[in-house]
Amino acid sequence: MADAFRPPARPTWYRRLPPALQRVAAASDRVPSLPLAAGSALREAVGALPAALATGRASDVQAVAQRIGNDICAALRVPGVAIRVELKRPATRRGELHGLYTPANGHGRDAIRLWMITAKRGQVVAYRTFLRTLLHEICHHLDYTYLHLRDSLHTQGFYQRESSLFHALGAGDVDSA
Ligand SMILES: [Zn+2]
Repeated sequence: MADAFRPPARPTWYRRLPPALQRVAAASDRVPSLPLAAGSALREAVGALPAALATGRASDVQAVAQRIGNDICAALRVPGVAIRVELKRPATRRGELHGLYTPANGHGRDAIRLWMITAKRGQVVAYRTFLRTLLHEICHHLDYTYLHLRDSLHTQGFYQRESSLFHALGAGDVDSA
């Protein structure tokens, strides 16, 4: 289980990890990108995200987010993940929770929760921010199901993989106005 958008990983904290987790971090850093070739259906789903967010309805956003998640998992041939979108972000001691990934660990399904309204201002989250959060949580899922890592850490490799998904989706080209 992990929250989104922590600061980028720095090698100094790797050294404080137990040896088993240092090996996980090293394995995580060896994979800077994911071989995702986004087809037209996946690009269309990404393109539909700004309009879904504009409705302000969690059910509309959840449907699009689930399509994106399903297509990425299918393209990489890993089990799917259940995505639930809720409205207002929970406040935490360090700010606001953007998203949360919970591996099933043998009970039920792997699950992602995302929030689409900021806690402080009550505004709908920007398209890029929301998509980044979704891809961040999907990367946690892929750490276990695609890379078969024993844990999912916020390593430099992790953030590189997150960016590789963002670019593979053509997400920077989507008109979010
Ligand atoms: Zn995370």
